[in-house]
Order: sequence, then structure tokens, then C-alpha cells
Amino acid sequence: MMLTGIFDYHAHYDDPKFDGDRAQVLARVHEGGVEYIINAGADLETSRSSIRLAEEFPFVYAVVGVHPQDAQDAPEDYLARLEEMAAHPKVVGIGEIGLDYHHTREHIEAQHRVFEGQLQLAARLGLPVVIHDWDAHEDTMKLLRRHRPAGVMHCYSGSAEMAKELLRLGLYLGFTGSVTYKGARRALESAAAAPLDRILTETDAPYQTPEPFRGKRCDSGLLPYTIRTLADIKGVDPQEMARIAGENARRLFGI
Ligand SMILES: [Zn+2]
Repeated sequence: MMLTGIFDYHAHYDDPKFDGDRAQVLARVHEGGVEYIINAGADLETSRSSIRLAEEFPFVYAVVGVHPQDAQDAPEDYLARLEEMAAHPKVVGIGEIGLDYHHTREHIEAQHRVFEGQLQLAARLGLPVVIHDWDAHEDTMKLLRRHRPAGVMHCYSGSAEMAKELLRLGLYLGFTGSVTYKGARRALESAAAAPLDRILTETDAPYQTPEPFRGKRCDSGLLPYTIRTLADIKGVDPQEMARIAGENARRLFGI
């Protein structure tokens, strides 16, 4: 049965992998029950592309931000540029921002500076943040404790213990197709421990393709596979899971 009211709060439709069929894919997934999508920026250019998508498609919104991998390349005035973009009526948050020690342990200082700069900007503008943490749990938690942002931990796959602290800090947990993978035990334990009203659903399209399509390009039309896995863990009907996660995202991002 088709699910309705699906909210994909994190995707990258500006990615070149969608250059051949972007408009068709967005139209198809919207007809297929995806009510809202938030496209995430990773630097100033992709943040602008996210806004353009949000202007073109009524059901698409944008978050703007500089990703940790791009932190060392951020121009000096990046915060002013982001603030200008955040004034756009369809920009609903700052993201994706955070720390990434998986791809590189160089530029850690720049990563910290740019993450903290954007946490302060989000606080000043009263906007939630979308947080990226890859192999940088300890430092990420330290900065989250210090700044106490409203927001969501994107693509959560950490321990249930860390999930509990994130929840205590008032944050939401975002789950991608990676919960359908073998070896997703930790993410599933965290989902099991999280209250239903703190769970968000996302694709991270074109990445994190759920099983049984792993290896193919991901789009929001595959989000039901993730939602069904989460519904199983939470012991609720998949449609109910989609509806609650959608309500959660609308509450957090003010949509
Ligand atoms: Zn992403």
C-alpha cells in the first residue's frame, strides 16, 4: 500500500546525479506520496541551488550551510552570505553543518570554527540546524552541549547512549536508508529508544539508498523502505510512522 504524507527532511537534488531527470524525479516522488522535501546545502553554491529548487517546486524547502568538508574553503564572508540566504521565505534552517573526521583529519580547526560560527548564526536567527557528524562524536557532542541548538542529528547511526544524550539536549534523530542495512543494529537500537515524536525520516538522496536497492541512485520515492523498517522497530503502522515523522519535521522546521 502506498504511504502518504511522507516528509523527506534531507536530500541533495542539486547533485549532478539528477542533472538528467531532476524535474521528472521530483514530480514522480511528489505524486507518490512525498508531501515535503528539504534540500540541504553543503557550501554557498549548493545552498543557492537549494533555494532555486525551493523556488521552482512548491513542496521543496531549503536549508543553507557549509559542510565540514568545505569548511577550509569557506570565503571570509560566508556567515553574511548565509544570513542573506536565510532571509528567503523558503529557507527553514542552517545545514548541513558539523564535523567530519572520517574524510579528513586535516583542517579540524577550520571545521570547528565554521561549525561554531553557524551554530551561533542559527541561534541568532532562531533557526534549527541539520547536523553532520562522521567519526567526530566526542567533539560534536562537546559543541552541541556548549551551544544547545534546536535541530536534528542527520543520518544517525551512533550508539543508543549518545542518542539518549542528544534527546536530552532536545534534538531530533534523523534516519536514512542505512537503517535497512545489515549491521544497522546500533541505529535500530537508537530508534527503538527514541520517542516517536523525536524521529525524522530522510533519504540523503542520492546517497544512503535503502535495501533492496543499495548501490543504485537514491530518491525520495524509496523513503517508504526506511519508514517501514522504523515502523517495525517502533511497533506502529507504517502509515502512522510516516505521518508522525512528517508532523515532527513540520514542527522542527516550522512548515
Ligand atoms: Zn546530506
